[in-house]
Parts: sequence; C-alpha cells; structure tokens
Amino acid sequence: MAELTLHTPLTALKGVGPAKEKALAKLGLAAVADLLAYFPRDYEDRTLRENIQTLPLEEPVCFAAMVAAPFHTTFIRKGMDLTKGRVVDAAAQVEVTFFNQPYVRSALTPGETYYFYGKLTGTGRRRQMVNPYFERAGRNTFTGGIMPVYPLTAGITAKFMGNLQKTAAQCVPQIQETLSDDLRAAYDLAPADFSYRAIHFPQSWEELEKARRRLMFEELFCLNLGLTLLRGRRSQQEAVPFDKQDLEAFTASLPFTLTDAQLRSAREAAADLKQPVPMNRLLQGDVGSGKTVVAAACAFLAWENGCQSALMAPTELLAQQHLKTMETLLGQTGMRVALLTGSMTAAQKRKCREALESGEIDLIVGTHALLSEGVEFRRLGLVITDEQHRFGVDQRAALSAKSGGAQRPHVLVMSATPIPRTLALMIYGDLDLSVIDQLPPGRTPVDTMLIGEDKRQRLYGFVRKQVGLGRQVYIVCPAVDQEDTEGMKAAEQFGQSLQRQVFPDLKVAIVHGRMKAKDKQTVMEDFAAGRTDVLVSTTVIEVGVDVPNASLMIIENADRFGLSQLHQLRGRVGRGQHQSYCVLISNNRNELTRKRLKTLCATTDGFIIAEEDLKLRGPGDFFGARQHGLPQLKLASLEGDMRLLHQAQDAARGVLADDPDLSAPENAPLRLRVEQLFRENGDIFN
Ligand code: ADP
Ligand code: MG
Repeated sequence: MAELTLHTPLTALKGVGPAKEKALAKLGLAAVADLLAYFPRDYEDRTLRENIQTLPLEEPVCFAAMVAAPFHTTFIRKGMDLTKGRVVDAAAQVEVTFFNQPYVRSALTPGETYYFYGKLTGTGRRRQMVNPYFERAGRNTFTGGIMPVYPLTAGITAKFMGNLQKTAAQCVPQIQETLSDDLRAAYDLAPADFSYRAIHFPQSWEELEKARRRLMFEELFCLNLGLTLLRGRRSQQEAVPFDKQDLEAFTASLPFTLTDAQLRSAREAAADLKQPVPMNRLLQGDVGSGKTVVAAACAFLAWENGCQSALMAPTELLAQQHLKTMETLLGQTGMRVALLTGSMTAAQKRKCREALESGEIDLIVGTHALLSEGVEFRRLGLVITDEQHRFGVDQRAALSAKSGGAQRPHVLVMSATPIPRTLALMIYGDLDLSVIDQLPPGRTPVDTMLIGEDKRQRLYGFVRKQVGLGRQVYIVCPAVDQEDTEGMKAAEQFGQSLQRQVFPDLKVAIVHGRMKAKDKQTVMEDFAAGRTDVLVSTTVIEVGVDVPNASLMIIENADRFGLSQLHQLRGRVGRGQHQSYCVLISNNRNELTRKRLKTLCATTDGFIIAEEDLKLRGPGDFFGARQHGLPQLKLASLEGDMRLLHQAQDAARGVLADDPDLSAPENAPLRLRVEQLFRENGDIFN
C-alpha cells in the first residue's frame, strides 16, 4: 500500500469497501484526517488490574487470567447455546460464560493468558463473568489501558472504528501545529501531535485531560478568530446611514406603549442604523415578548430615510402572519406593505417584483422566495430575518447582496431561542445583541404540569372541557410514524386513534413534516380559523404558529424533547386572554429527566430554562444538528469552559493585533484550520 497520509481516502484502508464507505460518510468521515478529528464521546477504563479476588463486583474491570480448562458449548434449545469455561489467576478462579458465541471455544486456548474486560459477579472465591471482551495478552490492542468510545452508526462496530483509529494514528506526526510555541507556553497547552494521539489513546487520565484542554482551546480560539475576521470584513462595508430618526412618531402611532425592554432594543438598533456601516444585530426575546414591533420600528426608520425593507420568515404561514402584524403596526404611517411567497401565482409574483423594482413597496414580507432570481429592489436598506437559526449564513448573505452597488443593507435577526448571553456571544460572535427580557403587561403565565400515563383518562376529560369552553388543543408527538418509533407516540397513528376511539364527536386533525406543504397549510389554516378542535402534530408547529384561541398544549413522551424545545412548544398557547395550560406526559422515572421537566413546570423564563438545558445537555444538543448555521463545537462545553473561552478570546485578540488578516506565513496553518472550521458555512475569506 502507498504511504498513508492525512489525505488518504478511507477506501484505501483495509476492510473499507463501498458499504463501509457509505456508513463512514454518514459520520462525516472520508479521509484519514477526518478520523483523527473524530473524537471519542467517552472512554472506558480497561487498565489492567491485579488480583481478581480483590476486584469490585458489578462494575467493568479488566484483568489477566489463564484459561484453566477447555471451553465447552452446550446447546440449550434452538437459537440458544452456552459456551463455558474456567480462567484463573494466582488466587482466584472465574467461571466465564458466553451466550451464542460458540466460536470463542477455539479462540481460548488452555494454558494461555488473556485479558478479560467485563463485570464480575459471585461470592468469595467463586467468581463469574458473562460475555466479557477478551484478547490474547501481548497481542492486546483494545484492553490494558484507557480505551476510546466513539459515536457509531449502523455497519460500523466499535472494534472496526477502533482499528481504523489505530491505523490513522500513524499520521498524527503529519498534523500541522496551529498554535505557536509562545502561545502554548503562555497558556500551558500541549503540542498538537501529543494531543491528537492522547485524545484517542491516552496513556493516563492526566494525558487525556491535557489533550482535551489543548484541543478545546484550539477550537474556541479558531472560532473566535473566524468570527472576528468576519466582523472586521463587515465593518469595511458601507451602508446607507438612516439620519432621520423620528422614533416617537412611530411609537405614538401604536395601539400600545412599548415595554422598557422593547424601547431599549429599538434605540440600540436605531443607533446602529445611523452609522454608514451595516448594522448586524441579533434581537433576542422569548416567545410573545414583542420582537415584531421592534422590527417594525426599524422598517419605519428605513422608510423615513427613503429605503425599502425586507422581512424574511422561514415558512409561508409565518410570512402571512407577519404581513398581518406589520399591516396593523405600520398602518398609520402610510407605509406600503406587501407579501411575496412561493405559492403565489406567476402573475401575482411578477406584479410584486415590478412594484419592488419601482419602489412602490416599502416593506416586503416573504419566504425564501425573496432570494430567488429576478427579485430586484429599488433601494433595499434593511433586511430582517425571523428565527434565523432556520436560515443558513449564506442565505442571509444572498439577501444582503440584493441591495446592489457598493452599499449593503442593515441586518436585523430575530430569534426566540433564548440563548444565554455568554453563549450567544460565541455562537453569534459577528452579531451585536439586543435582548427583550420582559413580557408585555397583562399576560397570565401558562400553567404547566407533569403527569404520568395513569392520568391519561382524566386528561382527556380536561381536553373535552376546554373544547366545551370554545378553546382549542395541541397534542405534540415526538415521531411522525410508528415506523420510526420505539414506544414513542407517533402523530399519524395516534391522531387517527384519538379521532376514532377517544374523540369521535370532536374534530381532530393531523399535521407533520412529511406532508405536502399545501396539505400542511390547509390543516394549519383550518386550525387557525377554529374549524378544528384538536391538532395532533410533530414539532412542525414549534415555530411561529399564532392561534390565540388555543389554550391547552399536551406534549407526549415529553422526556424526548430538549427543555428549550418544550419551552418553544409551550409558547404556542397563552397567546390570548384565556388561562392556558401545558401538560407534559412522561412515564420516565429517571431522576435527572424528572428534574429537567420539573424546571419547566417551575418557570416560564426562557433564559433560566436555556441555562438549565445547556448545563444538562451541552451546547451541541442545545442547538440541534447545525441548525444555527455556525460551526458545531466538538469538545468545548461553554458552560464549564468559560475560563478557557476567555483565554482563547485573549489569545485571538493578541494574534490579530500582530496579523489582522491572518496572512503572515507563520500563521498559514492556523488560517487553514479556521477556514476549515468555517468551510461548510461559506468561505469567510473568499
Ligand atoms: P414575538 O416576540 O413572539 O414575535 P410578537 O411580536 O408576535 O412576539 O408579539 C406578541 C403579541 O404581543 C402581539 O400580539 C403584539 O401585538 C403584542 N405586544 C407586543 N408588544 C406589546 C406591548 N408593549 N404591549 C402590549 N402588547 C404588546
Ligand atoms: Mg414572532
């Protein structure tokens, strides 16, 4: 075989055929370098322990023992056989049993010594062990030390992955060091080659800790560098400064008074908009906190200064709702508001495009149809996106590019995901942040409770009662179809059985992501218009649906959802004047799980919930798979690693002070790494 390098495709390795290639691709692994960057999710202590008799019972241990007598297989019945034998050390013996693995008989030779890894049971000198992992002493590769546990997928076993990693480890010396000697000395960081070896195959827990610290630092450091460069490039762009700022004229036209938090956010945005560089601001606020009116204020300022605005929503339904809201909020000002979505007829779209081009529309509300070819603005000055984690960074950029000429529009991003500030600064490092941390007056908090299956019948009674009062009910299931569930409620089947067996007299509808967009929309419109009593759905209703008459949210298998997601779902009720309820159903007895769910019952503060979620699940899960469109952190959990985060930020600042665009030859490996980190999100260096 040709010499192994970081670029060698995995198909060149022994045992990797087309099927394995596909399975590995699922894990994002194509070349040797990918393997080295694929870190274990956990470790097993398979360090060799002495004296079997003194080893603890019922917990995994690794020891050496000699096979004392040949192993024998007994057939119990069809599909069930036992292979038994005895192994010994100087003072104790262990009876080892394997289920349905008759082939181990020939792998365990009497008189030879092996390393065994598994749980011991039994009393006194009589010890037992079932289905241990074993290897010949001296030829052991997966026992006798701390062993990595990798995230796997169908077709890739732990052993197969372990072998690939052993092979890939040869290439560790080829990995380029990205952190200079000075930097490593200043922050006490281990070298790259040491770290990449030790993260996979640590010789001790101390080594592992050193490796983790260095790699975490590198991750945070590179993310920080990338985000800072991104911000720097933006500050060199030009935008139309909105000099006229008669905010009071706008607020006076509103049917309500802004909360302090809304006013503060609007003023922060207004200050940005005065600048000749593009605003790039994240407006964060819990569901119902009133972000839309702040966005409307910005659109008003754009209009005052002769510019058009575009508001982009992730779904048609949301776009339509925004249109209605904007029409109400801006109705008094004389601004012309219009809608552009994919489902409009060709003629309607053409008319809309013409009006945009001639400047007859001041605020256009739409879906990603706004990004399509042929949409031109006369003078686009402001882009607002809602629920930005549903858009990629490149989509935002595509809309920004529509302004034409050298000038870029100002950008306002709205998000209802209450991200803890520290984390927001990292994830949205290129954005400035405004937070609406206060709800409009007069809201009654949603009454939330956690129940078990035993209360289901009573709950159905409660559903009836709410519908009897004229209200509507959501029931959210974790899965679409019975096919993809293990004991979880699936919207399709559960909805049907509810209609037939439990609520034959009520109108039950079903909606989930696998339905056609048009059918989905019909179901949602029926529900919004009050033609349906109970809506059984998956999390497709999570974002943006606004039906003030809905007063009860039931969440099946609530333990399957993240806290922040549950909070988002709960935000679908309590939007009208009616007392609203959220019922979490879960039979899960796990203490941590119950604690999580109880948090939700105890508070409606999205930030507290987010902090809790972050602590319990880590940032990876917190944001869901790449939804936010920025690099996932592999190692660093920001909650626990704040100190390291600050160090990484300091270090990044220091490096950029000497080399602002990271173009010095000695920074080439670093630049490469930063580019790599950002590649999937559009090349930030172009
Ligand atoms: P979200 O932040 O979830 O997008 P919205 O902007 O949709 O929230 O506002 C939720 C509701 O609260 C809307 O019906 C809006 O008219 C109302 N609202 C917003 N601000 C205020 C306020 N200051 N006083 C009273 N009602 C408000
Ligand atoms: Mg909203």
